[in-house]
Parts: sequence; C-alpha cells; structure tokens
Amino acid sequence: MLPAPFIEPFSPPRRILMGPGPSDVYPEVLAAQSKPTIGHLDPLFVGMMDELKSLIQYAFQTTNEMTLAVSAPGSAGMETCFVNLVEPGEKVIVCRNGVFGERMRQNVERVGGIAVVVDNEWGEAVDADLVASALVANPDAKFLAFVHAETSTGALSDAKALCALAKQHDCLSIVDAVTSLGGVELRVDEWGIDAIYSGSQKCLSCVPGLSPVSFSPAAVEKLKARQTPVQSWFLDQTLVMGYWDASSDGKRSYHHTAPVNALYALHESLRLLAAEGLELAWQRHADMHQVLRHGLQRLGLRFVVTEADRLPQLNAVYIPEGIDDAKIRKQLLENYNLEIGAGLGALAGKAWRIGLMGYGARRENVALCLKALEEVLA
Ligand code: PLP
Repeated sequence: MLPAPFIEPFSPPRRILMGPGPSDVYPEVLAAQSKPTIGHLDPLFVGMMDELKSLIQYAFQTTNEMTLAVSAPGSAGMETCFVNLVEPGEKVIVCRNGVFGERMRQNVERVGGIAVVVDNEWGEAVDADLVASALVANPDAKFLAFVHAETSTGALSDAKALCALAKQHDCLSIVDAVTSLGGVELRVDEWGIDAIYSGSQKCLSCVPGLSPVSFSPAAVEKLKARQTPVQSWFLDQTLVMGYWDASSDGKRSYHHTAPVNALYALHESLRLLAAEGLELAWQRHADMHQVLRHGLQRLGLRFVVTEADRLPQLNAVYIPEGIDDAKIRKQLLENYNLEIGAGLGALAGKAWRIGLMGYGARRENVALCLKALEEVLA
C-alpha cells in the first residue's frame, strides 16, 4: 500500500452489472448525483424531497403518508420495519425460503419478538397453505413477514395472496420488496401491504445505499400505540418523519444530515421509472427474461426455480457439472467486464445468479451475457 499522500484517485472500470445488485446505474442518475450539493434544509432541496415522496408513492402504488427513503441500504429498510412495529414479546410469522427470510427472522428476535418460522425449500415460492396453517395455529400472531422476491434463489412469492391471509387473521404484513420494486407487479394499497421496504440498487438502477419505505395507516397506528420506545434512535420513524414530512406548521426539523446527492440520484431514477410507466417497466423485465431464458437453455443451463415462480429480474441457474465457478466468473469479469452473481447460502458454488434489473434489463446486455457465457463455457 502506498503512503497516503501518494495514493491516486480511484478510477473504476465501466462494468456491465448483471448480478444480484447493484445493477447498472442509469447514466442520467450518475449525472444527477454529481449536481451541486445544497443544504438538506434548503427550500429547493425540501421541494425536491416532496417530489421524491410522491415518486416513491407512485413506484409502490400507494397513497401512504408515511413514505420516505431511509438513508441507508435495504437492510436498514428491513430493520426500520421490525424495530418500529414489533414490540418485545409479540409474535411474527416469518416465511423463510432463502437468505433474506432468515435475515427477517434474526431481526424479529433482535427486537425481542417471537419468530414463528414457516420454511419452504430454497428455490420455491412461499406456500400460502403453510402460511394459513401457521396463522391458524398462532392466533396471537401480530405480523406476517415475507420476502416478495427472494434474491438468493430467484423465487417470486404471491404477495397479494399472502397479504390477504394476513388481513383475514388480523395481522399486519411486512414485505421485503428490495428486488421486486420496479421489476414485477407490486401494488401496495390494492394488496393491503402494511409495511414495505426496498433498495435503490436493484430494479431502480440507482446508486446503492438508500431504502424506500412505506407504512400503511394501520402500521402507523401500531407504531403510535407502542408501549415501549423504538429501540433505535436513527430508525425511529416518529423522529424521522419530523424531517421528511412538513409538520402542520409546514416546518421540517433536523434529524440527520440527509445524503443530499444520493437523494438526487433516487429522484432521477424514480422519475425515469415513472416516465417509462410501471406496467411497461414490468413488461420490459418479463420480455428480457424470455430472451435470456431461451439463450441460457440453448447453452444447456438449468433454472433453479420452476417457470411459474421465477423472477424475471433474477435468473438463478445451476453451474454445469465439472465447471469451475470462480474461474468462469473471473473470466467474465476480466475479459468481458461482465459481472454475474455467485450462488448465496445453500446455493453457494452450485448456482449463478444473472440479474436483469432496471437499466440492465436491455437486449444488448442479454446478448452480451449469452455470447460471453457461450465463449467461456466452450
Ligand atoms: N432483501 C433482499 C431481498 C435483498 O436482495 C437484499 C440485498 O441484496 C437485502 C434485503 C438487503 O439489502 P442491502 O444489501 O441493500 O442492505
């Protein structure tokens, strides 16, 4: 390592990011981020935040007042939901069909909740019948938590059906939409989702490090009725909202210094999504998945998830017998500037994860990925 005064500016290469995230960032988003930094209480910045809130509401298809971007990555969005809503001793049904369902379980236990885990095999969607049985067996459960799009396997669960079950059993739903937002159908109000979080770095194709979050009026009521203070000062939404939402007198109070330039980037990425139109963005992901699927199957690669439960934006395929996982990914990176993802958790060393997220879900990316794979696997 050079002594500090001799270190050169960092110059990353231009990679094509087709892993599980971060995804390729829109050029317009990178440009937005480099605009002049202004104060986080500057009236012009505050006006931008009002627009940002309505852009997040559009992306989530919600009118929830408590809608904002947490100044931290998706994991902090997850933690925001659990730490604000679950009180010690409360029971949460947690669906686990991959890495992120397990992370939800850990969150529940860290806030002092009781996690009742409903397990599905890795690569399968959450089974609504198993969830229904768990809800019947646990009439005292207060929440149902699940991952809409499990990035570790590429499985899509039926959020509409699961949230309807939660309602039938008087539970609030907590939904992970880190990989689903912008890539597949997601309708927060229509499906009755109570608490939802996402991440900036997947199908929004924004820079990493921000987490859009939204709470329904019922979730806000639950938060306000807490008997114990929210354990985390930073993530306490009752405090954060003092900054995100102008109070009745129209003033915003300082909570933390907002990541000003990153929020410009999120504003731009959500603006691009709205300009394209949500339905068209969902369709583009589905179309590009079909092109990729045909090509991968022509190369003899087998999908981890059955077609009915498969996410278009995250394609997990088994690594063929006798192929060196790390060597292939290194060749793709070094010779093609192409990043695909390794397997995670139970799929480590067994699968590759090919992302088609946001700006990355384009025909030229699909073509490059298929050509590169064909050449390195020959
Ligand atoms: N949930 C899911 C489904 C994810 O895919 C991820 C990240 O890949 C996370 C949560 C955590 O997000 P982050 O890495 O931004 O903290």
